[in-house]
Amino acid sequence: MKLYNTLSRSIEEFVPHEEGKVKLYTCGPTVYHYAHIGNLRSYIMEDVLEKGLRYLGYDVKRIMNITDVGHLTSDADSGEDKMVKGAKRENKSVLEIAEFYTSEFQKDCAKLNIKWPDTVVPATSLIEDYIKFIQKLEATGYAYIAGGNVYFDTSKLDHYYVLTNHTEDSLKEAVRSDVEVDENKKNKTDFVLWFTKSKFDSQELKWDSPWGVGYPGWHIECSCISLNYLGEYLDIHCGGVDNIFPHHTNEIAQTESFIGHKWCNYWFHVEHLNDATGKMSKSKGDFLTVSLLEDKGYDPLSYRYFCLNSHYRKQLVFSYDSLDGAQKAYFKLREKTSSLKKDSIEQNELMQRYQEKFQDAIENDLNTASMMTVLYDVLKEKELTDAEKYFLVKDFDTVLSLDLLIPYEAGSASGDEDISSEEILVKIEQRAQAKRDKNFALADQIREELLQEGIRLMDGRDGTTFERIK
Ligand code: AMP
Ligand code: ZN
Repeated sequence: MKLYNTLSRSIEEFVPHEEGKVKLYTCGPTVYHYAHIGNLRSYIMEDVLEKGLRYLGYDVKRIMNITDVGHLTSDADSGEDKMVKGAKRENKSVLEIAEFYTSEFQKDCAKLNIKWPDTVVPATSLIEDYIKFIQKLEATGYAYIAGGNVYFDTSKLDHYYVLTNHTEDSLKEAVRSDVEVDENKKNKTDFVLWFTKSKFDSQELKWDSPWGVGYPGWHIECSCISLNYLGEYLDIHCGGVDNIFPHHTNEIAQTESFIGHKWCNYWFHVEHLNDATGKMSKSKGDFLTVSLLEDKGYDPLSYRYFCLNSHYRKQLVFSYDSLDGAQKAYFKLREKTSSLKKDSIEQNELMQRYQEKFQDAIENDLNTASMMTVLYDVLKEKELTDAEKYFLVKDFDTVLSLDLLIPYEAGSASGDEDISSEEILVKIEQRAQAKRDKNFALADQIREELLQEGIRLMDGRDGTTFERIK
């Protein structure tokens, strides 16, 4: 597979550390608010990456964090913690906010057919690991204490800007005048590993540490969660382009200083979705969420279709006009594909040729628009029977995840199809309500019914997740 690698700024042949296996890490959302559809573009494309790799035969292990502490309003370690700000906005505790928006994010993912990663880890669950990690960096001279905080010393590295074209000078120019300079830092690019002193004393979640009561800096969670669950050699690290600097740059700096060798070979970054006014932001009043699109009469999968039609490395501009067009085209496509009937077939050369073309599109730096073209070519192909087309559509939909074989009227759980993720989430919410009402018999009954359908529920600190066991 050819993949653009931000690290080399070129398209490279993808070779994992271990043959046939891919260790994939995804930066998860900061759960202080709903995800906007820009965030979700990144997760859709990462989902296609995971499913594309599986289509090519790789065994993929994917981990995602949930940022519930330490991400400040400015990525440059100043400002208030976004979670604290979210909690104040809604008069709730940080944990309540985290639980609510994690569950909303999970619902959005389900609506967009984004597979929930194998393991999802809240940042606050590994504090002990962060402390050990920082202690080692301190012992090996990569970290220093100033003004009560622990900083990473970027001057200790020969190459700090491995992911970007930044130079020391261009970075200085790039620093905005409204960003406060932290006088504790020895170098402008140093970043916080552990805070004990912050102007914002309303930080709700704090932990004891060798440096005093405080909380971790933002970047450390992704380094430690990845090391903990995927080991010292990571194959692909994903995120949106805004993560390249400083987040991923700092992750590399601290992780490689900690393990003493190269960490991750491929960095996969999704370009931004912008609106007509420019960058999407959660602080703008009526920001674009999946629920807002639904309220306006759009099927969330029309948005997935819209994203699949352009390349992940190109900026995409959102407008209702273009979503209208995408929805029309998607409905027409699904009408056609869902009317195909299953029948027994034998694989033939022509079918194989189309599968190869689809595979080529995946291997060509995840060219989703070409994948869609192959799908349309199949539907137009006169030499293929409807049953053969059914087979190919089903095959391609393991990557595209557009519910292509499900008729609208029948609903997603009809026939011999599995219960949909959306329905499971509704049941999880019903069970949570039953528990709140102290109706434990009903809660147990819901759990049991889901188990009968092959769905196992797992209760964690940030809510209930599920896995399919058949
Ligand atoms: P956050 O919740 O801010 O931590 O962001 C979650 C993910 O969305 C990160 O991978 C970001 O890089 C990505 N992201 C943020 N804004 C956009 C955007 N406008 N378009 C695409 N991805 C984005
Ligand atoms: Zn991250």
